[in-house]
Amino acid sequence: MLLIDGKKISTDIKDELKVRVEELKSKGIEITLAVIQVGNDPASSVYVGNKKKACAYIGINSLAYELEESTTQEELLELIAKLNADSKVNGILVQLPLPSHINEKSIINAIDPMKDVDGFHPVSVGNLSIGQPGFLSCTPAGIVQLLKRSGVEIAGKECVVIGRSNIVGKPISLLMLRENATVTIAHSKTKDLKEVAKRADILIVAVGKPMFINSEYVKEGAVVIDVGIHRKEDGKLCGDVDFEDVKEHVSAITPVPGGVGPMTIAMLMKNCVDSIEIAEANNA
Ligand code: NAD
Repeated sequence: MLLIDGKKISTDIKDELKVRVEELKSKGIEITLAVIQVGNDPASSVYVGNKKKACAYIGINSLAYELEESTTQEELLELIAKLNADSKVNGILVQLPLPSHINEKSIINAIDPMKDVDGFHPVSVGNLSIGQPGFLSCTPAGIVQLLKRSGVEIAGKECVVIGRSNIVGKPISLLMLRENATVTIAHSKTKDLKEVAKRADILIVAVGKPMFINSEYVKEGAVVIDVGIHRKEDGKLCGDVDFEDVKEHVSAITPVPGGVGPMTIAMLMKNCVDSIEIAEANNA
């Protein structure tokens, strides 16, 4: 059984990006990411801190906007408009979730699609669905890298995705289709989930329920990607997959932690670096 090492793969990607950033700098091109946080939710502060650290490691400039919880939607939209107009800013990231008085959809839609490094703007999602150059949603893009860099062949394989959220299930299904897998999307209304899941050569689980998937859902020799992250009562992390029960039956699997998790920030960094080429392709 191959343990897919997200920590190592994400570090490799960041090291490759570091080289690309140095090359861009030698041509006089700097990359700048603006990170906006509204309020001080502790989990969001950790994520934002990790994003800033990754920027520093790779050589991307980061501009941090730490706004009061009481910031109005208009004020946030004004800041986004200012950053959209600033040619020195390549990427704009608004840390979610936002306080309940701010409409997330309006905020995401206000970001210039050419600076949408989270890949959540409808233009980015549209580009993904028709195979145009654009920003890919970070966690799904990370999953494809995990598979490719672990030597898992995707083309022609049966891929079952469990979950259809806009941030994981739907975009990873589109990406696996783009990689020529035969894709099935299962969700809360799917009948005979065990039978459907057992078709999978590659089973991607983004169901949001701790240790939901056990060996009864997994075909012998399948590759299992576990997107879930949950904190158990004993303080340890676990995924949507019952790792101990499944591990003897799979050919490869991502652990939690250390699987999909570390890939998200690495792919955000990749989107920042790719922003130069994406803008060029869209202006052509
Ligand atoms: P979500 O709650 O938005 O979506 C869950 C999906 O699972 C839904 O589409 C639903 O139809 C499906 N589902 C729910 N119950 C089901 C059932 N009984 N049978 C079949 N399908 C069922 O969750 P999400 O945002 O897609 O996240 C999924 C998991 O991934 C969560 O644990 C989340 O914390 C984690 N996550 C991790 C990262 C990362 O960076 N590693 C990023 C995003 C999400």
